[in-house]
Amino acid sequence: MTLGPLPHMTPKTIGSLQVFACVDSAGPTRLPSELLKNVPAEATAPEWLAPYLAADGRMIMAYQSFVLKLGARVIVVDCAVGEDGNFPARPDWHEKKSNWLAHLGLAGVTPDQVDTVFLTHLHMDHTGWLTRKNAGEWVPTFPNARHLVSQIEFDFWTTRHQEFPYMSTSIPDSVAPAADAGLIEIVVPGAAIAEGLQVVDLAGHSPGMIGLEYTEGGSVLAAFNADLMHHPFQLAHPQCPTLFCSDPDAAIETRRAKLAQYADARTVMFNNHFPGECAGRAVRAGDGYQFVPSD
Ligand SMILES: [Zn+2]
Repeated sequence: MTLGPLPHMTPKTIGSLQVFACVDSAGPTRLPSELLKNVPAEATAPEWLAPYLAADGRMIMAYQSFVLKLGARVIVVDCAVGEDGNFPARPDWHEKKSNWLAHLGLAGVTPDQVDTVFLTHLHMDHTGWLTRKNAGEWVPTFPNARHLVSQIEFDFWTTRHQEFPYMSTSIPDSVAPAADAGLIEIVVPGAAIAEGLQVVDLAGHSPGMIGLEYTEGGSVLAAFNADLMHHPFQLAHPQCPTLFCSDPDAAIETRRAKLAQYADARTVMFNNHFPGECAGRAVRAGDGYQFVPSD
């Protein structure tokens, strides 16, 4: 089965950095109150949120990766849900097919050309394309890439995944084969993984979540936010963590701090789970922010 491209972010050029989106899936998911805590009872969605909500109020979300081209470097940020995964508790993901590789091709990239895979965290919807099923075996998708992950994240999930039903198959099927092939390397906040591209600590949503900031001319021009926000609703309501946050208070604090920093610096934020034009700026609005997508 060949799947065509889904609606996706148009490629962005920010200084010397080119960014492409690889969409794995996208569509209506859940009501804000079904994914988030602290949702105000009287919340009326601001008008700018309308394109991100289905007619029945469900949040439209994407599951995707970003491909970064910087000089000769080709970096994949996160690996979405993947293909053929064993997720019986999630019928929409269980053994599904995906057009992710078609999007990688639209970025002009083959898996062999990827030199770095940066994993913001190890949740199942960020590790799927680490491997592909070949003759019944899970094999690494990116055999020539360093796979960068935080120590806290790697240690937590590789020892505790069986306590979490939604992680019990993704770690053995997606992460372990890359680790067994010697492809995993630990990276720490503050490290530069390429010229101008620095690792930042975003812990809260998951124990050791990290992101990337791209600095040129002394300014942070772009940020790869991982799951700092799952939906633009969390710009309007930064006080709302998800039901899946490992440390909800830290998740809120990290989100507020980064939104303030990026609003002040006019940083373009790349958001894994925002649909369509998922890159944009935070602009202060009331107690929260408005998301203003980049063209
Ligand atoms: Zn996620």
